[in-house]
This record gives sequence, C-alpha cells and structure tokens, in this order.
Amino acid sequence: MRRRFFYLDLNSRTISIGAALIFLSGLSGEAAETSANGKSWEEFSGDKALAHVQQLVDFGPRPAGSEAIEKSRTYIDNQLRLAGWQVARQAFSGDTPRGKVSFVNLIARFGKPIPKVEPGSLFLLCSHYDTKIFRAFPFVGANDGGSSNGVLLEMARVLGKHSELGAKVELVFFDGEEAVESFSETDGIYGSRYFAKQLSATKESKQFRGGILFDMIGDRALKVTLPPDSPTKLAREIFSSAEALKLRTYFTYFDRDITDDHTPLNAVGIPTVDLIDFRFSYWHTADDTIDKISADSLQKVGMVAAYFLSEFAFK
Ligand SMILES: [Zn+2]
Repeated sequence: MRRRFFYLDLNSRTISIGAALIFLSGLSGEAAETSANGKSWEEFSGDKALAHVQQLVDFGPRPAGSEAIEKSRTYIDNQLRLAGWQVARQAFSGDTPRGKVSFVNLIARFGKPIPKVEPGSLFLLCSHYDTKIFRAFPFVGANDGGSSNGVLLEMARVLGKHSELGAKVELVFFDGEEAVESFSETDGIYGSRYFAKQLSATKESKQFRGGILFDMIGDRALKVTLPPDSPTKLAREIFSSAEALKLRTYFTYFDRDITDDHTPLNAVGIPTVDLIDFRFSYWHTADDTIDKISADSLQKVGMVAAYFLSEFAFK
C-alpha cells in the first residue's frame, strides 16, 4: 500500500472512514488557539505527558495485534484530533517468528492540507507504542512503549498552539518495535522498517530534513543516552538545546550503538537521532511500571525537543 496522506487525494482508497471524519473535524477545537508566547518549550507539560502514559498503561500489555493496542490507537488518534492533527493509519501485515501479525503505524500532520511538500521541509518526531510480549508476567511498559508516546502527544498539543512550526512536523507512532521473540534482521522494528521502505519507494523520504525518535525517556533517574553513531549535527544541536535550558547533565552518549526505530530511517537517508535512556534498571521487567517514571523527566526531554524544533531544526 502506498503511504500517503488522505488529504492529498481525498479519493484515495487508503482513506478510512475514521480518517475522513478526522479530516472534517481536525481544524476545529483547541488548535484554533494560538500562543502569544513564542517559546514553545515553556508550554510543554510533563504532567500532561504523564497523564497520557497513565492512560496507555491502564490498557494493560499492548503487544502488536492485541485488543489493548487497538484501544491505545483509538486513544492516541483521539488525542491528536483534539489538538488539531489529521491522522492516517498505515496498516500492513508482517511475517514474524509466530506467524503473520497485523501492524498499524499512526501518522499525523497538523493543520491545512499542503498540496505539495518541498524536499527537506518537514521534520519527523516518532515513538513506538507497542509493548513487548512476556509470557511469565504482564508487561505494561510504562517507560518502554509508554513514556515516549506521552511526550509525543503533549508535543502535539504544544505544536498545535504554534501552528507555523506544527505544520512542518510529522508525528509517527510506530507499531511493532519490539521483537516477537528476539531482535534480529527480521524480528523487531516492524513498523519503522515498513514506514521507511514506503518512504523510500515513493521518494518521499526526501521531504524530511531529519527526525527525532523518543524511546524510554521517563526514568526518574533520567540520563538520555544517545547512540554514538547519531548524526553529528543533530546530536550537537540536541546537546546545545539541553545546554540552553540548563539540562545538559541529563544528556550523554551511550557506550555502543543501538538498533531502534531510528535505524531504518537513517538507512533511507533521514538523519534521525534516538533520544533513549538505555540505562533503565527495569528494562523488559515486570517492574517497568508507572511509579518508575516521572513527569519531571518527561518534561525535561519534551522541553529540550521543543527547544530544538524551534531554535535549530529549520535553521
Ligand atoms: Zn523494549
């Protein structure tokens, strides 16, 4: 299926009824408000981000293809629409070690339809919203599969009030980041691999000047550990943004490269940095629960990303 926005071609077969309704209602509501304050980052609320994470965690374990992940999708979709974003569902099925699984990436754009997107005019913000399957215990992924979506949804609200900036951003919520069994060339990062492949096939990857992937950014003891192979310019600008907000101490490099949803994006020529805290003690355990993450950590990462978007991303 060709990935493209329903609003570019309203007769496209890829339009779902839900998407069409969203299109009709997407320009009303909160989005009409514009902020008088130019400093988008000061409006980012860690508390609001955490409330979204709580909602997702309350759905329980959310592996690809589950009923709970469909509830998450509906929730994310609704929240985006309320903030003035138009949402498209990119559905596909993938072969996994446990057979075929249905995946759905959610792709959102803000504001009025753009007839033609110029090369390098958009910036990508993304996150995965599935949680890993564990048979031995219920895994709710407050940090891994939760936190980054809270930040992305709060970012959608903030960018909705900064419509000029919001219109230059695409938000993507990836399904199937987690390996069904264990990470390999063919197991894991299903959603981002599919997304990148579609972009590359249609040459639409050229629309993006860069991207930020958020993953596990809620740890109370926050230390965002960028992979050492991060695109240099992006990493430098993230560090500078953190510095400007006196948050530099919370950002560093990890000691080895990380395969995550940013990997396929970089492979198709979209320089993407992974803001991930890979020193999370409760990673892939039953204890990755809401009490391990804090509004304060979500706020720090959200502010740095918003500052970066306003001050660096398009300069
Ligand atoms: Zn994980």
